Amino acid sequence: MKIKINENFKNIKESYLFSDIAKRVNEYKKLNPNADIVRLGIGDVTLSLPKLVVEAMEHATLEMGSKDTFRGYPPEYGYDFLKEAIKSYYKRNGFDIDMDSIFVSDGAKSDLGNIVDILGNNEIYIQNPVYPVYLDSNVMSGRHINYLECNEANNFKPTPIGLDNEPKVIYLCSPNNPTGATFNYEELKAWVDYAYETGSLIIYDSAYEAFIKDGSPKSIYTFEKAKYCAIEISSLSKMAGFTGVRCGYTIIPTEIEASNMSLNKLWKRRQATKFNGVSYPVQRAAEAALSEEGMKENLKNIDLYFKNTKLICDLLDKKNIFYSGGKNSPYIWLKCPNNMKSFDFFDYLLKEAGVVGTPGVGFGTAGEGYFRLTSFASYEDTLKAVNRLEKLL
Ligand SMILES: *Cc1c(COP(=O)(O)O)cnc(C)c1O
Repeated sequence: MKIKINENFKNIKESYLFSDIAKRVNEYKKLNPNADIVRLGIGDVTLSLPKLVVEAMEHATLEMGSKDTFRGYPPEYGYDFLKEAIKSYYKRNGFDIDMDSIFVSDGAKSDLGNIVDILGNNEIYIQNPVYPVYLDSNVMSGRHINYLECNEANNFKPTPIGLDNEPKVIYLCSPNNPTGATFNYEELKAWVDYAYETGSLIIYDSAYEAFIKDGSPKSIYTFEKAKYCAIEISSLSKMAGFTGVRCGYTIIPTEIEASNMSLNKLWKRRQATKFNGVSYPVQRAAEAALSEEGMKENLKNIDLYFKNTKLICDLLDKKNIFYSGGKNSPYIWLKCPNNMKSFDFFDYLLKEAGVVGTPGVGFGTAGEGYFRLTSFASYEDTLKAVNRLEKLL
């Protein structure tokens, strides 16, 4: 063909991480057909949905099957009943959010990837290591990327100290995937103050806020100034087990302006053009999940994951292995013992213990020498893996 393509796609690094992991596991299985492999690399929830969520979805589905209660296209920005539920969830956490600033989505990843549509050619700042969508969506749009290194010295939490005063777009994720690091009040305040003073925008991914236990900020709107300089993108995926159901939301305060335009209005225009909303049964399920009763059930599941986290953290403490995360997060980011590289440590755990994790270097250059374990496996599997690692490490 003779048409032109988006040449920026040539600059995206192919991620071979998960295919590389699968290849190594398969080779090991061929050599050891009876090996009992335990996976602690899972980045997806595994516990099933609470009953009241399933019932809400069932009820809504039945409504769709009856002439009187059938519904067609949903509103592009979400049904009011779900926006009310999101507003009320924030209110219970101590935040006042305007209905008009809430946009219901089919998950955080879509909005995190699509938000570049309404932004111009800004300097982009992202954490390294990083959840890949912030990086790749900006490379696809030809943006220039700057990295905020996350390392042992800064406890995997970059600060704005030393950055110039030019306006920029800054992606922050707390509690973080993959490092589990969580900004405390002062650390996050420093970023909001910096963004406010330099005319920068923070895109804040709070997909794991429901895992926060130690009083760290659950929302960027903890800080008054954030409503002039921050967008919050979140999801029911990890909080409520919605990875397969698909529902999230984005908050764009009506106060935010750039080039004399309201970002909220630009996003409305973008969504009305390219998005036709989230299905009615899913929005009813999300409403139930965010209710007080629903959140009780979600937190029960999160507590079950935390039991696994504790098994892993106790082992690492005992073995004096340095790690970040595990306190407000389902992720444990450990330093490979004896200065091993990420993939060498991966092979070592696989061969010697039949345990699979995720090599840190797969999340960026700053992840080399690190390794991600997760608490999403069953308690039995986590215990089995921990017992084997106890003997090995
Ligand atoms: C899992 C995850 C999300 C959620 O994505 P969905 O599209 O809502 O499933 C967002 N951000 C991070 C960092 C994640 O790990």
